[in-house]
Amino acid sequence: MSHLSAKMTTYFSYPSRELQEELKSIANAIVAPGKGILAADESTSTMGNRLAGIGVENTEENRRQYRQLLFTSDKAMNDYISGVILFHETVYQKTDDGTPFVKVLQSRGIIPGIKVDKGVVPLMGSEDECTTQGLDDLAQRCAQYKKDGCQFAKWRCVLKIKKNTPSHQAMLENANVLARYASICQSQGIVPIVEPEVLPDGEHDLDRAQKVTETVLAFVYKALNDHHVFLEGTLLKPNMVTAGQSCSTKYTSQDIARATVEALARTVPPAMPGVTFLSGGQSEEEASINLDAINKYPAKKPWKLTFSYGRALQASALKAWSGKKENVGAGQQEFLKRAKANSEAAKGTYQAGSVAGAAAGEGLFIKDHAY
Ligand code: 13P
Repeated sequence: MSHLSAKMTTYFSYPSRELQEELKSIANAIVAPGKGILAADESTSTMGNRLAGIGVENTEENRRQYRQLLFTSDKAMNDYISGVILFHETVYQKTDDGTPFVKVLQSRGIIPGIKVDKGVVPLMGSEDECTTQGLDDLAQRCAQYKKDGCQFAKWRCVLKIKKNTPSHQAMLENANVLARYASICQSQGIVPIVEPEVLPDGEHDLDRAQKVTETVLAFVYKALNDHHVFLEGTLLKPNMVTAGQSCSTKYTSQDIARATVEALARTVPPAMPGVTFLSGGQSEEEASINLDAINKYPAKKPWKLTFSYGRALQASALKAWSGKKENVGAGQQEFLKRAKANSEAAKGTYQAGSVAGAAAGEGLFIKDHAY
C-alpha cells in the first residue's frame, strides 16, 4: 500500500438507518411539489435595516409583531410554504395570545427551521473575502433546537466575484466549514441547508457567474463527500446564476435558467433532493419569473427546484404593513400573493405579471449583503 493510499482511508460508517430515514423525510417534506421556504431568519441588525426601510423602530416587540403577521397569514399559506427559517429570538417568541410561534407553524403543517451560523468574518490576507463562524457549540445548539421543534437549519457562506476572486483559499475554507456544519446538524437529526452564496455584486457577465458557481459547488460537494455527509438528508440553497448587478449586458430569464441548470447539473449529485434558491437582491417579480423559467427549462433536472426567499417574499408585505395594526391584513395579503406566485414558479406554471404587489418590481439589491 502506498503512503498516500494509507492516509486516504475510505472507511467510514453511514448514519443509522433510522437517522437516514428521518433526515430524508424532513428534506423531502420541505421540497414537496409546489412548496418552498420562507426565510424569516434576518438577524436583529438585518431586521433593523428592513424595519428602518418602513420607518419602524427595531424593538423586540416590533420584530415579534412583524413575524406574527407572517406566521398567522390565511391558511392558503400552508399550500405554498413548507418551512420557515427562524432567527434564535423568534424561536422563543409567541403570538399575542401566548402561543409559541413554533407551535403556530407546526399546527399548520409548516416545518420550523433555524439559522445557526454566527455571521461572516474576514479571511486575513485575502482580497476582502470571508468565511462564516459558528461551529463552536453547534452540536449542543442543534440538540436544543431539535428539542424545541426545529427540524432543519441554515448556514450561509459568501463568495465574491472580482478579478482575482473567489480564491482557492476562500472556496476551500467555505466548502469545508459548510461540510462541518452539515455533518454536525445531521448528527443531531437536523437537516442542513447548505448555502454557498455567490454574491451578485460586480460587473461580471453571465458566463463568469456560471463558471464561478460551478467551481464553488464542485468544492462544496467534494467537501460534503469528504465529511461523509448524507446527501439525501440535505438541501442546497444556492444563488441563481445571474450576471453581476453592474453588468451592462442584460440577459433574459431563459438565459438565467440555462446557466443555472447547467451549473447545477454539472456539480450537484442527484442524491441531493432539492435546490431551494435564495433571491439575492432580485425583485419579487424577477425572483418568481426566474424560478419559473428554471422549472420550465427543458433539461435533465434530478432535484426539486424551489424557493427559500427572504427579501423576495417580504418586500411588498413589509411595505403594506408599515408597522401599523390596521395594515396587518394588507401585509398578509401581499405575503400570500408572493408565496402563491413562487409556488406556481416552483411548478413552472407562473404567468409573469399575473401577481401585482406593493413592491413587486422594486430591486432589492443590497451591496455586499450580510444576513
Ligand atoms: P434572500 O432571498 O433575501 O437573498 O435571502 C435568503 C437567505 O436566507 C439568504 O441567506
